[in-house]
Amino acid sequence: MPKRRLLRMFLFVAAAAVLVWSVRFGFADAWVDQYSLPASALSELPGSSLPELPVVAPPTSVKPQAESMPDAPIMPKAVVLSNRITEYHISVALDEANGGLIGEQTVTWKNPGRKTVSELYLHLYPNAFTPGSTFIKESKGELRGDKMKAGGTGNMVLTSLTTEEGETLLPRLHYVQPDDGNKNDKTLVTFRLPEPVKPGMSITLRMNFTVKLPDVFARMGKAGDFVMAGQWFPKVAVYETAGMRGRMTEGWNLHQYHGNSEFYADFGIYSVRIDVPETYKVAATGFQTRTPTIAGGRKNFQFYADDVHDFAWSASPQFEYVENSFSSVGVPGVRIKLYLDPLHKDLKDRYMHAAKSALAKLGEWYGDYPYSTLSVVVPPADGNGAGGMEYPTLVTAASAQNDNPGYELERTLVHEIAHQYWYGLVASNEFEEAWLDEGFTSYTEDKLMASIYGVIPNLPVEASYITNPEPLKQSSWRYRSSDGYAENVYIRGKLVLSSLERQVEDKTMSKIMRAYFQKYRFRHPSSSDFQKVVETVTKTKWTDFFQAYVQEGQMTDFAVDSISSSKTGEGYESNVLLRRYGGSPQPVSIWFQFQDGQTVRKKWDGVQNHVQLQLRSSTPLVYAAVDPGLNVVLDNRKYNNYLKTEVPKEVRTRWSTGITQMIEGLFGTMAW
Ligand SMILES: [Zn+2]
Repeated sequence: MPKRRLLRMFLFVAAAAVLVWSVRFGFADAWVDQYSLPASALSELPGSSLPELPVVAPPTSVKPQAESMPDAPIMPKAVVLSNRITEYHISVALDEANGGLIGEQTVTWKNPGRKTVSELYLHLYPNAFTPGSTFIKESKGELRGDKMKAGGTGNMVLTSLTTEEGETLLPRLHYVQPDDGNKNDKTLVTFRLPEPVKPGMSITLRMNFTVKLPDVFARMGKAGDFVMAGQWFPKVAVYETAGMRGRMTEGWNLHQYHGNSEFYADFGIYSVRIDVPETYKVAATGFQTRTPTIAGGRKNFQFYADDVHDFAWSASPQFEYVENSFSSVGVPGVRIKLYLDPLHKDLKDRYMHAAKSALAKLGEWYGDYPYSTLSVVVPPADGNGAGGMEYPTLVTAASAQNDNPGYELERTLVHEIAHQYWYGLVASNEFEEAWLDEGFTSYTEDKLMASIYGVIPNLPVEASYITNPEPLKQSSWRYRSSDGYAENVYIRGKLVLSSLERQVEDKTMSKIMRAYFQKYRFRHPSSSDFQKVVETVTKTKWTDFFQAYVQEGQMTDFAVDSISSSKTGEGYESNVLLRRYGGSPQPVSIWFQFQDGQTVRKKWDGVQNHVQLQLRSSTPLVYAAVDPGLNVVLDNRKYNNYLKTEVPKEVRTRWSTGITQMIEGLFGTMAW
């Protein structure tokens, strides 16, 4: 999911930072005179100053548009791509009168380890929407700019749990809370198996369950006759083997449902029957293997997906359906299926263009999109909490708030489609290393927006948002707040990749990203697995970099600490003290201006944390700047990058213009 509200909020911080910076030169008055923008004007910026959408030619490899029926069946392919630890056969009926789901499932779990396993763990995620849960305690009923409605709670009840032979296991159930010990949290349950499962062997269990859907909040629920079923069935936890993600010994990876965290699951097979009223359309992970059957006013769908680690579906009688076939390099052939809120039915070309362009770029940059479908759900305005979310082969776009949205339509959609690669295929552990998904996805989102729409991110401004840097290798719920989570996992995570890109240059960075995807798809890698790829591709050690920015929450703050100029005989001697506060060594440009207008540009290797420079000149030194081009993307305190000895009047005017131009630049880029 994207995090945009935060960015807008920090627009003020960016403006304030530039103002403070300009005060240092005595320019604040000039700035304020020219730009006395009232707060209301600022808050209107993202919507009001949207640039016109450029007319971009659709990807050249688009095949002739083959409109087809939403329910046309597809057959599974024989090729096996993942280790398929789990196999689910689910049958679920929407109980639209009571806002619930009634399900039964048979799940087979294969022991991937070298030890015998005698207990199983299930995530019962809908219990997060029950009062007293850890999720509600942490989120305080507010998440992603959305509020939980009073009385809009949800839950899941396991009504039966048996072996294949019919032995009940219900009395063995007990809820566990490994993260916080909150006894009211029932999102994770365990039970002792009747027979231990030996390495390489499987167990099959049957269960019946009911779900009370919450009013749409935090990704799932119901809003009128719109339903988003995400994390809606009892889901087996991940059993990690030794060596996986740096684990010394094998075992279950166990976490509750948290306010900030998203999910983690094993790859497998899903065969899911969905029963809804006859008038409903259903979007789901995977594809249909037969045309739906209709009986007694109900419609029964049969979906199938393999080599995926989750299954989500959405239903509504209102959906406007559009389908196109698409193929390109890295996209062997995919049916793009749009399920639009009626308010957006005239925007189908924008959705289709964004989806095709994003898939084409991702296929070309990283590797094949191996699935035969990609479904896009556009929720209604009151289903906003379900918008902007990723599931395997199914994404939800931002909800339809008005009939003329700006770039947020494309930005949200390409972000969610980028998740198909990092969340869907690479599938890192979002409980423990969320940046490997959201940071990577935000980085890819910027690349897609630049390459498809020419929208270039303003990274120096985004760096100034980082006011509370925290480690990226940190469990999601340990961040200080949900804003702190977003600031670090999305923005700082992205900046860490951008910083790496600036240091190794674009071509090498492309190789790194592709190599990482190719090596780790379907494998749940860790931050150090990514580091190993970086080191292999660049043939260089990046220990300091990963220590500073991933293991720890450092930033790189380059500063001109002091500057002095004094007369010596014929000319002047100037002393400049440069410092690098935090971060790992990296070369940086330095720049000097003298009173006669001459400028000198040099490089500092940035290896030490400070350097004292001495310059001789015929006129006094006026300014010194470190990183004047704002290239160090992890520098969140740009205001100390410059220092002056004095400000002659004519220079003041010039600089004043420069600053005001930069302000305009900031506002321009923020307006997406
Ligand atoms: Zn996301």
